[in-house]
Amino acid sequence: MPFTALGLEPRITKAVLEAGYTEPTPIQTKAIPPVLQGRDVIGIAQTGTGKTAAFVLPILQRLATQGAPMGRRGMRALIVAPTRELVVQIEENVRKYARHLRIRVATVFGGVGEGPQKAALRAGTEIVIATPGRLIDLMGQGCVDFSLLEVAVLDEADRMLDMGFIPAVRRIVGALPKKRQTLMFSATLSKEIEALTSEMLTKPETVQVGRRANPAESVTQFVIEVPKNDKLALLQHLLLDEKMDSVLVFSRTKHGADKIARRLSSTGVATATLHSNKSQNQRLAALKAFKSGEVRVLVATDIAARGIDVEGISHVVNFDFPPQPEDYVHRIGRTGRAAAIGDAISFVMPDDQSNLRALERFINRGIPRKKLDGFDPKKYEVGPPVNFDDRPRGSFQRRNAPARPQTGGRPHASSGRPQTAGRPSSGGRPQAGGRPQAGGRPSSGGRPQSSPRPHATSSARPQHPGGASRPATAGARPPRRERFGR
Ligand code: AMP
Repeated sequence: MPFTALGLEPRITKAVLEAGYTEPTPIQTKAIPPVLQGRDVIGIAQTGTGKTAAFVLPILQRLATQGAPMGRRGMRALIVAPTRELVVQIEENVRKYARHLRIRVATVFGGVGEGPQKAALRAGTEIVIATPGRLIDLMGQGCVDFSLLEVAVLDEADRMLDMGFIPAVRRIVGALPKKRQTLMFSATLSKEIEALTSEMLTKPETVQVGRRANPAESVTQFVIEVPKNDKLALLQHLLLDEKMDSVLVFSRTKHGADKIARRLSSTGVATATLHSNKSQNQRLAALKAFKSGEVRVLVATDIAARGIDVEGISHVVNFDFPPQPEDYVHRIGRTGRAAAIGDAISFVMPDDQSNLRALERFINRGIPRKKLDGFDPKKYEVGPPVNFDDRPRGSFQRRNAPARPQTGGRPHASSGRPQTAGRPSSGGRPQAGGRPQAGGRPSSGGRPQSSPRPHATSSARPQHPGGASRPATAGARPPRRERFGR
């Protein structure tokens, strides 16, 4: 079905086509018609399926074609999402689809100043995308007027439940006009989510894509059994493979994430971290640097990485095996999106075996075990600690960076300093301001002095552990950009 068949306003269809989309994804095909009819909808779909456009496009259609009562200005659509990263990502999508419309968008989330957000709310921004905590704060200060609200979207409702946001969501929904359209999106439909839908939605239509736990078909998955003390060495060993050029590493804890990042940075691998101990600006900068290709490895905790959409993540590494099968599915969904090739590698310690078996039952298939020939943990010495996030501000800029560092930096040269995390915003989007402190390339720009790498020459590079499933394109990769973007 072409996009034009959905009956969207020509200016919206134009923006969608300019974004490179040729036809709606299955969740869009199923969800857009009932949302356009004004019905409440429950969408069961994971991130990566195109669910954001499934709710944003009909909202834009409503705002572009129907004026507010008596031409008043104010918030007409509210999108609530669990994390700041997801809020920013949704905002990017809204701006992309609304580029030919005169609709104002604002974001509301914690960790940044309230001033611009309050100003945007006062100015009568039509679409507000918010995390629950900051929105509640601003509601408490009397800065939020829901009187014109027509549509509310609760995105990633299952994750909001996991993160303990449901009381906050209840308060928000309780403050909305009774007469409204409500859309709820969730990767899974648990009993708790069903209970919420009956509380917050009216005669909803349920649309669903994919099976409940369906790791992307295109992701090659395998596990490597490794003792705890050898995990860092194993990660370093894997990163000798240049085809691992855009790697999202999952750590169970923030402390663990920092430790991994320190080790990788000390060996010349451009690494940034994404977790809740980082300031909002650092998190946005880390994500931006990873998206731009400036940073090769992003080490994240589950919550921080939830819903992030980066085109061309080549590998997901479960440095710490996730105890919850759902988290595994979400994690590996970060790669192999939109049918890209991606590998998911899980480190499994003896203690993780029962969780691994539970996962295999959950996804209804076995995950191959891989033995790495030639991996000798003793070869990987610890280099001098260089914490990416602690480096002086100016050192983010690539200086004298070789086009192809020998020691595990990104195999391709990218376009220099990434943009700062902030972007101009008509709707009060907070400026992250300044030069990012997280992410980037170690200022030495190359080989660490005290950590000779065992396989530094290309002839000695190990085979990619995922076998022949990936094309040998190392070094030819362009900087990552928003998928299907212009
Ligand atoms: P989402 O599930 O909303 O996070 O979307 C995942 C990715 O799919 C984003 O990068 C979107 O830009 C992209 N996308 C959304 N709709 C389409 C479409 N109809 N065709 C191609 N890509 C799409």
